[in-house]
Amino acid sequence: MTASGQQSNLLIVGSVAFDSIEAPSGSVERALGGSAVFASIAASYFTRARVVAVVGEDFGGEQFAVLDGRGVDASGIRVVPGGRTFHWRGRYHDNMQDRDTLATELNVFEGFDPVLPDAFGRSTDVFLGNIDPKLQAKVLDQVTGPRFVGMDTMNLWITETPADLREVLARVDLLFINDEESRQLTGERQVANAASAIIAMGPRYVVIKRGEYGAILFSGDFCLFVPAMPLRRVVDPTGAGDSFAGGFMGFVSGAAQIDRATLARALRAGAAMASFAVERFSVGGLEGLGRSDIDRRVAELDSMCAAR
Ligand code: AMP
Repeated sequence: MTASGQQSNLLIVGSVAFDSIEAPSGSVERALGGSAVFASIAASYFTRARVVAVVGEDFGGEQFAVLDGRGVDASGIRVVPGGRTFHWRGRYHDNMQDRDTLATELNVFEGFDPVLPDAFGRSTDVFLGNIDPKLQAKVLDQVTGPRFVGMDTMNLWITETPADLREVLARVDLLFINDEESRQLTGERQVANAASAIIAMGPRYVVIKRGEYGAILFSGDFCLFVPAMPLRRVVDPTGAGDSFAGGFMGFVSGAAQIDRATLARALRAGAAMASFAVERFSVGGLEGLGRSDIDRRVAELDSMCAAR
């Protein structure tokens, strides 16, 4: 619910994928994945999530049922007749952090031209998942006066399409980025300086993710920290970043007002959802959670930082 009493919702654009993963913990073939899938399922615990994306005819009832099961509105997912869904193949190193991309088959994603269903144009909040910044801008062009817009990006766009990236950055409220990419984007080595440089590019806030060392949200006048949950067993790190962003953005979208306290809680929601995501392959860790599971994990994150 927004401050004006409007039922809030979160529009998410990103990839919908089949992921084939090899990890020290095991492997999966063509499991449901993609940034928009992880983000929307994570967000669905806090707000009404809706997705704009593209898939092929190989994406069927079983996959849509997963989104439907979480109440995610998939009416913005276009099925291309005769097309094949984006497929990503990756292999994790023994440290479960570094990974090699073995194959990226863009398939229908190559011709992705996001067109929003009419109702999506009135979304209250927006998360622009990690896709070509030109497409992120195209989605934003179709939304009337969103309350809060977050975006993700990656090294590819920082190096290949810096001007397009800067244009979108100037239009969003918050950027999610990892620390290495923040250095790449700004040329600044110290995280606080990189954050200031990013804020000077337009967003009011930046969340700099530092893997197992947590994440820091910077604004012009305060910063907030959240640790990463120290898990004993990580099965599949795929989608951790997207689940973090989905949990964070979902929490913000579900909040009546967006202030420092909301952002602090959103960081915990993000860290909790990321920790659930990595405990299973694909979206297995994000399904079937109860409010109490999430609350318990958020409380654990809180107690890690409490003075007593
Ligand atoms: P993350 O682990 O947060 O980096 O996100 C992994 C997800 O991103 C996987 O589910 C992949 O399907 C998806 N992905 C991988 N490469 C790309 C790409 N080039 N564009 C869009 N999505 C991608």
